[in-house]
Amino acid sequence: MIYKTPWISYIHQLKFKKTKNSFIENMATTLKALKYTSFTGFRSMRFIFRSVSTLVLAEHEGGAISKASLSAVEAAKSLGDDCSVSVLLAGCGASLQQAAAHAASSHPSIHQVLTADSENFQHPLAEPWAKLVHLVQHKGSYSHIIAASNSFGKNILPRAAALLDVSPITDVVNICSSNQFVRPIYAGNALCTVRYTGNNPCLLTIRSTSFPVPAALFHSISNEAPISQVDLSTFCEESIGKSRYLKHTSQDKEPLKSMDNFKMIEKLAEKLGAAVGATRAAVDAGFVPNDLQVGQTGKIVAPELYMAFGVSGAIQHIAGMRDSKIIVAVNKDADAPIFQVADYGLVGDLFEVIPELLEKLPEKK
Ligand SMILES: Cc1cc2nc3c(=O)[nH]c(=O)nc-3n(C[C@H](O)[C@H](O)[C@H](O)COP(=O)(O)OP(=O)(O)OC[C@H]3O[C@@H](n4cnc5c(N)ncnc54)[C@H](O)[C@@H]3O)c2cc1C
Repeated sequence: MIYKTPWISYIHQLKFKKTKNSFIENMATTLKALKYTSFTGFRSMRFIFRSVSTLVLAEHEGGAISKASLSAVEAAKSLGDDCSVSVLLAGCGASLQQAAAHAASSHPSIHQVLTADSENFQHPLAEPWAKLVHLVQHKGSYSHIIAASNSFGKNILPRAAALLDVSPITDVVNICSSNQFVRPIYAGNALCTVRYTGNNPCLLTIRSTSFPVPAALFHSISNEAPISQVDLSTFCEESIGKSRYLKHTSQDKEPLKSMDNFKMIEKLAEKLGAAVGATRAAVDAGFVPNDLQVGQTGKIVAPELYMAFGVSGAIQHIAGMRDSKIIVAVNKDADAPIFQVADYGLVGDLFEVIPELLEKLPEKK
């Protein structure tokens, strides 16, 4: 038999080195040290080591749990068949209640939905959220805490990890077991398998593109998960921290002040019903705002179709789009590295190709 966790191998050693009584004594002391207060014998020990309970930190908008958070639930499912999944939503008022009702019936693996209803959570600021995670973990003793690797999760999880005094594992793309995970390194050029050997809870951010929620799953939801409120009576106002919410801006409200060349790309995107992204070179040149940057230091995207016009294919850019289902590249340099990852490549001038495409594509209805 192979014992994977250091804990179980410790039991294994003790089993052979000590008599049964001293083994039990040793384990009782050790488990007490681990803050497990009730020790009732070997059967319950097996339960402690095997049970996986996960808290998913979920984002919501317009009364619905986000797709990325459902991917985090999907990831939690991979931790083990017996994994119990709780979803934590924070906000205030009717939109939170609506989102909780939506979450409760959004995935069959969700066992319960926890809501933190307070003005402090009206906007998803990292400081109060991190304190909330600390509070909920204190009460629920989860083995794992998972969030999607987006600006919401990346903002909250490291702070929560610091409060819980554990080290988070970020950008997980595959879950091998409850303590073994695969994550990209070197800007996505290599995959690294890491084993978590720290204390509970194990904190993870997951790449949502690696844990898609199968559409068929929605039809298999038979009953709604219960919704409970988090007791915030011990949540201190000081947790609000120094950051303040000012405003939310979106691309739709603020049209891009891009260069003429980029307008051509925008027109094409409009016709295709696509979103526009950019390389850092385009961002640095001031053609587009920073939040459109795709890559290692920008956004990670994985659309059905990714069209790269005049993109060299630097590894830092590839790191952000390599998981796209179909990659089309147009570049006038036949040796451009983008062609190494492209499914379809055209050596040509984008100033000829794009106008031709615009002409041939029908207007968006
Ligand atoms: C720490 C670090 C982090 C980084 N993070 C990112 C990141 O997140 N995202 C990112 O994108 N970059 C990032 N970079 C920068 C990255 O290394 C590249 O410099 C950048 O991606 C290059 O952008 P580009 O391909 O648009 O520009 P260029 O390298 O200038 O390439 C332009 C390409 O367009 C082609 N071209 C030019 N004119 C035409 C035409 N008329 N028709 C067709 N093709 C044409 C050229 O052949 C060339 O291949 C990072 C760099 C560092 C050091």
